[in-house]
Amino acid sequence: MSLSNIRIVLIQTSHPGNIGSAARAMKTMGLSDLCLVNPKHFPDPQASIMSSNADDILQTATLVNDLQQAVADCHSVIGTSARHQRSLSWNTFNPRHCGEFVAENLAKNKKIALVFGRERTGLTNEELSLCHHLVHIPTNPDYSSLNLASAVQILSYECRMGSTDIQSSSHALDEELINTKEMEGFYQHLENALIDVKFLDPDNPRYLMPRLRRLYGRIDITRSELKLLRGMLSAFQGRKFTRRKK
Ligand code: SAH
Repeated sequence: MSLSNIRIVLIQTSHPGNIGSAARAMKTMGLSDLCLVNPKHFPDPQASIMSSNADDILQTATLVNDLQQAVADCHSVIGTSARHQRSLSWNTFNPRHCGEFVAENLAKNKKIALVFGRERTGLTNEELSLCHHLVHIPTNPDYSSLNLASAVQILSYECRMGSTDIQSSSHALDEELINTKEMEGFYQHLENALIDVKFLDPDNPRYLMPRLRRLYGRIDITRSELKLLRGMLSAFQGRKFTRRKK
C-alpha cells in the first residue's frame, strides 16, 4: 500500500522553519505529498535548514491559493484541531483511529488529505466545512496546542502504523470513487435544489449544508451513484434529467 496517496496540507504557515520540520517529519514516515496553501514565506532558507535532508519534499511541494484547490483530487479530507469541540459536533478521531481509517481508505485506492491549520489560529470554520472528519491529538487540556510539525509527525506516524496492519487492497471497489471537486458540484446542486423546494432558507441557512456535507462525507460515493443523486435532485427541481437507457 502506498503512503504517497496521503497529502499533507499546511494552511498559511507563518514560520518557514515549520514547513521544513513538517517535511522532515513526513519523510521519516515515508510520506511525500506536501501541499502549501498560501504560505507566508516560501521558498525560504529557514525551511531548507529545518528540513535537514528532506529538501526533496520541499522541492516537489505544490503551492495553491485555497483549501478547495489543495484537496480537489482527494476522496477524503481530514482536518486537524488543537481544540476538541467546535460548534458543530464532529465525529472526532483520535490519532490511532485516524491512522486505521487512512489505511483502510488507501486500500480502497482513495487519496486522503490531512489538513493542518495556521500556527496561531488553526483552521477557519469555512475550511472545517470542507473536511469530512476531524482528528484531535489528546493533550494536556490546559495546554493542548502542539507545534505544527509535531502534529504532522504524530499523525504521519499513525498513518504509517495503520498501513502496516492492512496490507491488501481486497476492499477495493470495482467502480471509481468521485473526488472532492466532483462532490463540490453536487453540494452546489443540492443547495440550489433545497432552496428551490424551500427546505433551505438562504437568509437563515443554519447548519444545514455543513451537516449534509458531513453526512455525505462519511460515505464512499461512486460515479454512477453521483449521477443517480443528481438525477433525483433535478427531478425534485422539476428539471429534465437524462435517464440511463438499458
Ligand atoms: N490556537 C490554534 C492552535 C493552532 S496549532 C487553535 O486552537 O486551533 C497549529 C496547528 O497544529 C493546528 O491547526 C493543527 O493543525 C495542529 N495541531 C496542534 N495541536 C494539535 C492537536 N492537539 N491535535 C491535532 N492537531 C493539532
